[in-house]
Formats: sequence, C-alpha cells, structure tokens
Amino acid sequence: MLKKIRLLIIASILGLLALSLVQGYLINNSYKLKKDAFISETRRSISRIDDLAPSLDKMNDVWQDHFLNVIADYYIGKITKKVVLEKLNSTTDSLNNAYIKTYNKELLKKNIGYNLKFQKQVKKIILLDSVKNDTIFESKTKPSFRLLGDKFSIEDGHKVSSSLWMTDHNFQRIINGKENSITFDLQFQTEDRMNIEGWENIVLSRMTGLLLFSVFIFLLVFGLLYYSIKNLITQKKIADIKTDFVNNITHELKTPLATLTLATKMLKNKDIKLKPEIIENTVNTIERQNIRLQKLIDQVLNNSLGYQEIKLNKEVVNISDYLNMIVDDFQVSLDSKSIKIQKNININQEISIDKFYFTTAILNILENAVKYGKENLEINVSAKIDKYFILSILDNGIGIPKKEQPFLFDKFYRVGNREVHNVKGLGLGLYYTNEIVKAHEGIISVESEVDKGTNFTIQIPLK
Ligand code: ATP
Ligand code: MG
Repeated sequence: MLKKIRLLIIASILGLLALSLVQGYLINNSYKLKKDAFISETRRSISRIDDLAPSLDKMNDVWQDHFLNVIADYYIGKITKKVVLEKLNSTTDSLNNAYIKTYNKELLKKNIGYNLKFQKQVKKIILLDSVKNDTIFESKTKPSFRLLGDKFSIEDGHKVSSSLWMTDHNFQRIINGKENSITFDLQFQTEDRMNIEGWENIVLSRMTGLLLFSVFIFLLVFGLLYYSIKNLITQKKIADIKTDFVNNITHELKTPLATLTLATKMLKNKDIKLKPEIIENTVNTIERQNIRLQKLIDQVLNNSLGYQEIKLNKEVVNISDYLNMIVDDFQVSLDSKSIKIQKNININQEISIDKFYFTTAILNILENAVKYGKENLEINVSAKIDKYFILSILDNGIGIPKKEQPFLFDKFYRVGNREVHNVKGLGLGLYYTNEIVKAHEGIISVESEVDKGTNFTIQIPLK
C-alpha cells in the first residue's frame, strides 16, 4: 500500500511536471505569436511615415540633393569613398535633430499609445554607369550605419521596412578645361528600424488573462492532487490504526476467555467438588477475569466509540491521604515484590477532583510504568504545590524515543511497530488519562529518554 502511494505520488509529480512543460510550451508559443502580432501591428501603423508626411519628405530631399553633389565629386575622382560617407554623415547629422522632432510629431498623430524610437540605416550605396557597378557601401562587408533617427543598436530594434532610392543624375563639370556632361545611376538602399521601449511588458500585459488563468489552473490541479494524496495517506493511517486495534483487542480478549474456559472445565470436574479451597480459588479466578473483561469493554466503550463524555463529579480530598491510598493499593495489586515504589507525597492540603476518574488516570500511568519497565524497576511518585497541584510519576523503564513522544496521547497510539510489542495494550490508556486531566482543566506532559526512564507530569489547578 505504502509502495503504491509512493508510486502514485511520483506519477502525480511527473504528470504535473509534464503538464507544466506542455503549458510552458503553449504559453511560450502564444507569447511569440502575440509578439509577432504586436510588432507587425506597430510596423503597419508607422511604415512609410516619412514618405507620407510632407515635412519629413522635404528633409529627405535635402540630404539626397546634397549627396548627389558629393557623388558627382567622387565620380570625377575628386574625393574617395571614405570621404563620400563622411560627407553623407555630416549632412544627415546636421539635419538629425530637426528630423527626430518632426518624426515624433508625426508619430504622435498616429496615437499608438507607447513610446517608440526610429532609425534609418544605410544598407547599400551603388553607383552604376555603362561600364561597371561601383559599390560605395554595402552592409554585407561592413556593418550598416545610422543615417537618421534615434540611437539604438541593431539588435534592440525591429525592421519596419526597407526602401530603395534609385535615381539617374546628370551634371556638368569642367574637366581638363572642357565642360563635360556626365550621367550616372545611383542605388541607395535603406532600412527603417524601430525600437519599442518595454515591448516585452506590453506583450506580457496583453497576455495577463491567459497567464493568470494558467497559474490558476495549475494551482487548482496541484491543490487537488495534494488534497487527494493527503487524504489517501490519512485513510491509510486510519486503516492501519483500525487493524492494529482489532488485533490488540482480540489479543486482550483471548487471555481472559481462555482462563474462563479452563476454570469452568475445572468446576465441572467431579473430583474437585470435594475440595472447597480449589473451588474458591477457581471462583476467584473467574471473578478476576470477569472484572478484567468488564474493564476492557468499559475502556473500549469509553474511548473508541466516544460512548461517554467525561462528566466530573468533584469532591474535596486530602492530597496526602488520597495519593497514599492509591499508591499503597497499587503496590498490593502487583504480583512482583521486586518493584519499588517511592513516595514523596506528604502534602497536607486539599484539592477538588473527581476521585474515580483521577484514580483511573494515575493508575494508567502507574500500570504503564510497570508494563514498560525493566529489571529492578523503581517508580517514584512525587507531589508538590506550586500555584498548581503538580504530580510526577517517574520510572526507570525502557523510555520513549523523542520522535514518538508527541503522539503518546493520541487514541490507539502505541510506540513502535505492532510486531515488536510483546506487551499487551490497546493504546488507549494515555489517551484516556489525557482526557481526564483536560476535564480537570489541567495538562499532562512527558519527559523521557530511551533506556533511562520516563517521567509523566500532571498539573491541575487547585480550586
Ligand atoms: P492500554 O490502552 O492498555 O493502556 P498501552 O499501554 O499500549 O495500552 P498507552 O497507555 O496509551 O497504551 O501508552 C501508549 C504507548 O506509550 C505504549 O504502547 C508504550 O509504548 C508507551 N509508554 C507509555 N508509558 C510508558 C512508560 N512509562 N515507559 C515506556 N513506554 C511507555
Ligand atoms: Mg497503558
């Protein structure tokens, strides 16, 4: 059974893990989809902003016109490629502040609801004439650079669009004293990129419902599983306790019944009828076993079935007289003379208790001390008054392991494994004792060390 429960727990944990993985995978997928949708939605709303807004378009014309002149200088060999790019940069740099301002104004009109940075990157500049293509810049060989817009690294942005500016340019230049008309084609490829501040949070916030629902479902499944397994373990414990109890009670009933059978057989024997002392002995045995059976049944009825609630019938007793009587009676009832009981109970004070119940409580502890004692058993009963009436019963028996001590007062609890026990019992004695002490508004506690002994302390208000 325990193995099955363990397997069940492992299977549940694995199942839960698999479920979480699948859920994680699905959430990740829908995050990607939402992200793509969000990016393309933004892309759609801002694409071609600079073409459609006349103010931006005009600014583009300014740098483009300027650049055509620079290219013409390059074409006639006046400047190098490096200088072309430097001149391009210095033109756009001087334009940039105004460009960004205008761009943001246009962006505001779009009303997209979140902050956005924009950038135009140079991808390719190629000069074409009838002879050959002359590549001035290509992002394949060199990293592309920012032409206009805000500063942010390529990795932090998303592509919006790429555009190709193609133009054929005609210009007059005096070369070697002669005026020449020159024509060339220019291909200028750019890429628009955007950087949306905190886009991850925006996408996640759009998924809040889904995320919350997933967490809720996960917690629900986890909670249900935890609850079911916990229930299963409790049920198993109860089943074990019941089996133990049935085993114990059968064991307890068997002995007196066997003795009674033997006694009746003896009384039927004709020879015995002539010997009155044997008859008396046998009748005494029958009486003793009868009382034992009665006690057992009472104990079971009182405790296991919740048959009777403890209703106290208190009377005032002298502590010293009362305890002396119990301990002396108990000593007399013991078969073994080797058990020493020491008393330290001379307190000439009165206390109000239910004599019947309180005696049962003390006897349960005394009986345990004998049942779980060792050779040369010594029991020490001591009482004192310290605001409360405090009674300690100390023995030098087998002791109780620390980890078992918290459960001693539980119903049916017996220390260790049932098979290990060679002492009979139902595990009800201390439970009942605790109930009695509680009815007297007191507390019972235990201190014990294995192989050294056990000390039970009862503390009740004087009243
Ligand atoms: P019964 O219902 O017949 O009293 P029980 O003696 O087994 O059965 P409890 O009196 O409730 O039940 O005691 C519970 C367990 O505590 C015992 O089974 C025993 O293992 C342990 N125990 C109790 N008193 C002592 C003691 N003085 N020394 C060592 N172990 C003890
Ligand atoms: Mg007991």
